[in-house]
Amino acid sequence: MAYTVEKTVKNDLCINCGICKTVCKFDAIKMIRNEYGEVNPVIDIEKCKNCGQCLKYCPQEKEKLISIAKDLSKMEFPHRHGLEDSKYYLAWDKNTSQRLKCCSGGAVTKLASYLMSQGKIDGMIHTQRLWGKRGDLHYGTRFSTSIEEINENVSSTYQAVDFSEVLSKLEKGKTYFMTGTPCVIRGIKNLLNSNKDFSEIKIITCALICSHNVNSTFADFLTEANKLSDNDLWQVDMRAKDETMPDANNFKNYVYTKEETLMNKNRFQSGWTQFWRFYYFAMHSCLYCPDFWGADADISVKDAWGKWASEDAKGQSILVIRNNEVLNDFFNCGLEYEELDYETMKDHQKPTPVYKQTNAIYKFTQKPYSNKNRKSRFLRYYINSRCSKFLYKHFGFKVTYLIMKTINAVTWLLEKI
Ligand SMILES: Cc1cc2nc3c(=O)[nH]c(=O)nc-3n(C[C@H](O)[C@H](O)[C@H](O)COP(=O)(O)OP(=O)(O)OC[C@H]3O[C@@H](n4cnc5c(N)ncnc54)[C@H](O)[C@@H]3O)c2cc1C
Ligand code: SF4
Ligand code: SF4
Ligand code: SF4
Repeated sequence: MAYTVEKTVKNDLCINCGICKTVCKFDAIKMIRNEYGEVNPVIDIEKCKNCGQCLKYCPQEKEKLISIAKDLSKMEFPHRHGLEDSKYYLAWDKNTSQRLKCCSGGAVTKLASYLMSQGKIDGMIHTQRLWGKRGDLHYGTRFSTSIEEINENVSSTYQAVDFSEVLSKLEKGKTYFMTGTPCVIRGIKNLLNSNKDFSEIKIITCALICSHNVNSTFADFLTEANKLSDNDLWQVDMRAKDETMPDANNFKNYVYTKEETLMNKNRFQSGWTQFWRFYYFAMHSCLYCPDFWGADADISVKDAWGKWASEDAKGQSILVIRNNEVLNDFFNCGLEYEELDYETMKDHQKPTPVYKQTNAIYKFTQKPYSNKNRKSRFLRYYINSRCSKFLYKHFGFKVTYLIMKTINAVTWLLEKI
């Protein structure tokens, strides 16, 4: 097993993307949910030939992450890496009802539907909400081949998802548009650049600029915190918006069955903000992640936080475009936009890229409780993410809710020492 992705799983760095399963020629990998509901590769040793392909293409292999972190540590401003040689735009969909369904300004959806309407892509690889109960997966991946499907499956998927099934459907000679967190896009770029099976496939890659991601129990915990019944199948949209919001920062958590709304609550009142900010149920891999801006993608997209969120309550997207073909399509796709300059972009949402990109190396070279890792919040996130998962699994909601409040206070204090 020396050369398999078991190493990534053992190192707790797996992001569940399924790329390893896609590249295994011997059908030796199954994606199986672990005790916390995360979907990891499990290797059939009877079938495995120890060829090393899965590890070669795994974007979360520890050595690859260390190498990125080392490169960042040599830069003058590591938190700005990913913004070089790019064009930056603030953009939003003019169609208000569609924009309100989307996460930020609806830029990703508008661009993808334009590409589809022009016959420039044969499909979109992205995500969808799933009907389920507590304990189920609440999101999955999907392959859309019409504008209607693209417009319907919008907003942010706050759960790590497995792309292996969708990737197995791609055909040579075709072009696709794919969204994903930066880690997944890094893996896809590597496939496109160096895997023979992908050499005749074109994928326009769109990274969703990412603080971190969570596992499926995050949504379970949220619904329990809000005392929702779990009798029917429900779906969750953690980035719901409507006309009543005072600003884009006040997005809502919308939970619904086929018949009724179970919850449509401001995220500051539902507990979502606290659980998210303090990394409850965070994927362990995300604690170590050295990529905020999605530097490898053709285009990266994020929320227009800051003054824009208060000026336009419907939400706007910020785009970092690194590819001239995509830039042309962006100009033609019908989005409203304003160009932004480097001065505006270079320190945007600064604490998160500093946590991820500037402090990346210390997470690998120093103990979690070292001075650097305490001050950078790594220790707090490390403890919170581990404890929330463990407590919820073994002791249920009430105990977890109460104990986590104390743990979070203690981990916050540790940062101040
Ligand atoms: C886990 C996560 C963390 C994020 N953290 C930040 C952050 O800290 N700061 C910030 O500014 N922005 C963050 N974003 C990005 C932001 O939430 C929006 O995704 C982005 O602004 C695009 O908005 P939009 O309205 O243009 O996209 P939309 O028009 O709503 O389209 C989004 C498209 O992406 C697809 N999609 C959504 N989630 C995923 C996923 N996980 N994997 C693959 N495809 C997906 C949807 O199916 C849809 O097609 C994060 C996104 C995710 C998924
Ligand atoms: S990160 Fe992706 S490629 Fe790596 S082990 Fe996990 S599922 Fe496989
Ligand atoms: S056969 Fe190769 S790609 Fe498949 S699991 Fe074994 S080492 Fe990985
Ligand atoms: S934080 Fe990093 S590892 Fe986690 S989902 Fe985002 S890009 Fe992937």
